[in-house]
Amino acid sequence: MAQIRIENVRKEFGAFTAVQGSTFTVEDGEFFMLLGPSGCGKTTTLRMMAGLELPTSGCIYLGGEEVGQKPASQRDIAFVFQMFALYPHMNVRRNMAYPLVSQGMPRADVRAKVEEVARILGIVDILDRPVGGLSAGDRQRVALGRAIVREPKCFLMDEPLGALDAEFREHMAGELRALHDRMGATTVYVTHDQIEAMQMGDRIVVMNHGVVEQFGRPQEIYDWPATMFVAGFIGSPAMNFLPFEGVAAPGASSLRIGEVEIGIPDLREGARGRLALGVRPEHIRLDDAAPYRARVAATEYLGTTQIVTLDTAHGAVKARLASTEPIAVGATTGLRLDARTLSVFEAERGRALASAANEKVLRHG
Ligand code: ATP
Repeated sequence: MAQIRIENVRKEFGAFTAVQGSTFTVEDGEFFMLLGPSGCGKTTTLRMMAGLELPTSGCIYLGGEEVGQKPASQRDIAFVFQMFALYPHMNVRRNMAYPLVSQGMPRADVRAKVEEVARILGIVDILDRPVGGLSAGDRQRVALGRAIVREPKCFLMDEPLGALDAEFREHMAGELRALHDRMGATTVYVTHDQIEAMQMGDRIVVMNHGVVEQFGRPQEIYDWPATMFVAGFIGSPAMNFLPFEGVAAPGASSLRIGEVEIGIPDLREGARGRLALGVRPEHIRLDDAAPYRARVAATEYLGTTQIVTLDTAHGAVKARLASTEPIAVGATTGLRLDARTLSVFEAERGRALASAANEKVLRHG
């Protein structure tokens, strides 16, 4: 059992608070992503799970046991960093064997274990090569192998693919996920790359300024962001916001924005004042008959789709449309928004109002 639970974990470095009371659970066998911009506290959270950093307050449970104040050596966890630190004077086999040899495992067992893991990683043919001349991908596989041979309860990975170029990174991301599916060990993976998080993760925690903004399955977070930060961070182009002053009444199934009434999923809670309607670019259709008016400002051809920038009374929005759709820059048209897909935010606090569509996935911090 390798469930990891973080409960009200806070980390202060002097007067600066890097992690502000996080609570979430990584289930046994999950591939779990810690996602957020640089400096948001991802690495600090991961280092506290590993025991490389001790929390200022709060509890960390590993397999049900409280380990928050235990050092790394007393936790059954393997840490994989972005920079694959291999021992340059040893060949691949000896690099992978190192953790087992230092534990005092008999030679024959070490050999069998290293070869078994090398088979899983597809690196049997390079076992006797020096690590010096290896490609970046092979070096990363060796580093992973060295973590895997120990059979830890869980893997903690800090941007392990960060040093690879984009194409190879995507390939290794697929390999890592496939490896996880074969081995089933709980994995926590830090990244600032929303696409990597969406592709690989069973679940994602989104952090910002040391605060957990939301956690959930990739599609939940994409479809129903709990905050304007998450809405803007995930998706490219990001979710559009139509800001307006008004009233969102509990139970309402439409909002009045300027002169126009726009249908929304039934609200479960209300707010008044500064609000924002959130709409994903792919949920906008152009329809000359639609009452919410816009002017086409620009188009950007992307192959199968095009990104169309539209000026509205509430600012510019981007729509993702089929590139076969003829669009004339300068033309005036109407926006048709799919009511079932819209989010409503309380703009002051930047949080989504609960609605019939999103109430099950909203977990505010
Ligand atoms: P990155 O991807 O840039 O590493 P991150 O989300 O992983 O970002 P952290 O490395 O956890 O962020 O850092 C969070 C904040 O805590 C940053 O502002 C960082 O400068 C600060 N910080 C981290 N470690 C220390 C330390 N040992 N002493 C002081 N401040 C620290």
